[in-house]
Amino acid sequence: MTLDHSVRRTSGNDTGGGTPSDVDQTTDADRALLRDAVRALLADLWPAEDYERDVSDPECLRAVWAALCAQGAASIGSAPDAGGLREVVVVLEELGRAACLAPALAAAAFHLAVGPHTDGTLGARISGGQAIPVLALDGLTGPAGVAVQDERLTGVLDLLEATEIASHLLVPLPDRNTLAVVELDASGVTVEQVRALGAAGLSRVGLDAAPYTAIALPDIAWRDLLQVARVGLAARAHGETARTFEMACEYVTQRQQFGRPVGAFQAVQHKLANSLIAVDGCGLLIRQAAGNVDRKQPDAHLTAAAAFAFASTALRRVSLETHHTFGAIGYAEEHEAPRHFKRVHVDATRLGGARAAREELAAHYLDEGGLVPDIDLGELGNAFRNEVESWLRAHWTPEERAASRRRRHEFGHDYDHEFARLIGETGWIGLSWPEEYGGQARSPRENLAYLQVMERYDAPRAGSPVHSAMIMAHGTPEQRQRFLPEILAGAALHGISYSEPDSGSDLASLRARAVRDGDEYVIDGQKIWTTTYYGEYLLVAARTDPDAHPKHAGISVFMVPSDAPGITKRIIDTMYDGSFANIFFDGVRVPASARLGPENDGWRVLTSALGTERGVVGGGQIVLSLVRLFELLCEELRGGDVARVADSVVRDAVGQLATDLEVARQLMTSCALIAEGGVSPLHEAAMTKVFASELHERFGEAVLDLLGPAATLSAGTPGALADGRFELRLRHSLMWVISLGTNEIQRTLIAQRGLGLPRR
Ligand SMILES: Cc1cc2nc3c(=O)[nH]c(=O)nc-3n(C[C@H](O)[C@H](O)[C@H](O)COP(=O)(O)OP(=O)(O)OC[C@H]3O[C@@H](n4cnc5c(N)ncnc54)[C@H](O)[C@@H]3O)c2cc1C
Repeated sequence: MTLDHSVRRTSGNDTGGGTPSDVDQTTDADRALLRDAVRALLADLWPAEDYERDVSDPECLRAVWAALCAQGAASIGSAPDAGGLREVVVVLEELGRAACLAPALAAAAFHLAVGPHTDGTLGARISGGQAIPVLALDGLTGPAGVAVQDERLTGVLDLLEATEIASHLLVPLPDRNTLAVVELDASGVTVEQVRALGAAGLSRVGLDAAPYTAIALPDIAWRDLLQVARVGLAARAHGETARTFEMACEYVTQRQQFGRPVGAFQAVQHKLANSLIAVDGCGLLIRQAAGNVDRKQPDAHLTAAAAFAFASTALRRVSLETHHTFGAIGYAEEHEAPRHFKRVHVDATRLGGARAAREELAAHYLDEGGLVPDIDLGELGNAFRNEVESWLRAHWTPEERAASRRRRHEFGHDYDHEFARLIGETGWIGLSWPEEYGGQARSPRENLAYLQVMERYDAPRAGSPVHSAMIMAHGTPEQRQRFLPEILAGAALHGISYSEPDSGSDLASLRARAVRDGDEYVIDGQKIWTTTYYGEYLLVAARTDPDAHPKHAGISVFMVPSDAPGITKRIIDTMYDGSFANIFFDGVRVPASARLGPENDGWRVLTSALGTERGVVGGGQIVLSLVRLFELLCEELRGGDVARVADSVVRDAVGQLATDLEVARQLMTSCALIAEGGVSPLHEAAMTKVFASELHERFGEAVLDLLGPAATLSAGTPGALADGRFELRLRHSLMWVISLGTNEIQRTLIAQRGLGLPRR
């Protein structure tokens, strides 16, 4: 098989940075073929065990490049039907996994910035392997390192790759309009090998009045060059890191200490769960950025900057963590890990490192007044976003919003029955339900579109998504008939009563009991922290078989009217100006028909909706509300002190938040795409919840530093910024970390379900 087959353009589904809006494209399956072909080629010509020999012998690199050229990898991007940055990313990730510096990035950057080539030109010779390029990166973001005098180049360029086999040096010139091409065997050119982080394979090139050929680049092509370099380097660093991370995950299942595999220790599991979030988040963002560049999206430069900024810091952290996980064995040079450590650290610091990328993001948000670009949710999702927005503009006027705020203040909680009934008329409460239950059978991405606009318009939540999912999955026909229509109409709300004073994370240890008495159950016990205590129904988990083993067995779930005789509520104020309730059940009688799912099978009912709860409800809501807050923060900064906006510390912090927000959005969207594929995202939803909730906390803390004491003033206090929303969200953010299963519990789940690490 040749790579030419893999990079052909076909139409089809794409979930790696592509969406259904992207009609003419190479499919994921094509890219998987490309990946496999490059991986096989490298295993043959650049095997891990011969790395030292290969890296010191230019003939090995020449053989790799010749093989890649023969299979078409050197021509990706050279013509409209020759693939794009998404295919380049695949090749570079594989080169990263092999710690091989074959010049795929230089070739792709040349093609993608300079455009299609005719026979005999440098581009055509690069594609054919007769000319081998090396790209000088530094001039793209900082001083070029060279000066032009009398149409010759003088200066020093550092950390150049593959010079031992290269024929042409590509130098972006400081005028930002020219790519200088220097023949490496020309007069005035000297090449000296350097070691960076102790690794070989890099060079310093001296130019002393060296002749060059100029290729004119329009302004836009300069930006293309930078985007390709950022995404390409991030992809290679991602491959480098992913390889060591996978090795570490494998190692911890084998290595035994204290009589068990070290991967069973929670400290190791949580470290690797964090790493998985970083590695996957980075991979998603890189693919999105590459797709945006290929589709020539106007915001492609922002995604590319975010991808590089995140890769630069997160992958280095993962690299350190994986080394800690290996212990001393990974410290030996004969192990594969050190070469990846060196490579990822060199790659991550190129192009001005994360700082320069974050500055580009800060310029967009602080100088240009830019908003967070909408995620491409596919044709249907994008259209639905517009439809919901039109509806809200018509029905959710500023006067309505103010009235709703007053109502919510009056109720003492964040639910507005009037609004719920209004939106109930649209049918959108059941937008993702199957049509047989009165729903609209819309996709998870349409659901995201809906949540996004509702958040943008500060609309209160409506519906009971977790309960309706459970009722549809486990309810009897009568239960569906009874409960679903009123939820759909916004007329009924259901609360969750699972937690008990002694059963938080360890929910399976709950003690509330439901005893069968004829056609009824009698419930006794105490529930705690029920947020939606004011709903018409409570979903109560209770033990129906006290002797069952394991303790997960013997639990059943009931839908209990919240005003049933025997229920007492003690309402408690929460630290975010809301409330939840302790609820006492004292001989509460419910008919047997109130049981949801079979007796003693409640655990399956409870856990079946966890993906919905954490992914779309939890993760989605957290991320989308953060987008809105981030825009408010930037608005606040722009409208304030000019010196503050110019402060590099402020700009870097804004760039950092924008980067993390982009990662959170990718994790959230990937859950929707997984769900669209018919699979419930479990560890992926947990990853979104962990990353987004902790970002929410970081955001709240950062705002206090960026805006100062005025940001601490609460709603209603004169001088409160954004009517106190920033400080309120900081107080609220803790809830996201603790509830829906604490982040420690989530990390354990990610490690055991996502990485397959042992339980003991
Ligand atoms: C604002 C808010 C609203 C809530 N709303 C509801 C609701 O509507 N209905 C409802 O039923 N519940 C609700 N909860 C409760 C929530 O589900 C629990 O808080 C959560 O399950 C954690 O339980 P806990 O608070 O008892 O903490 P604990 O389980 O006691 O945990 C304390 C600490 O120990 C850690 N820990 C515990 N076990 C482990 C372990 N095995 N490994 C590692 N670390 C561990 C936790 O991560 C945490 O850091 C709400 C909570 C909050 C904060």
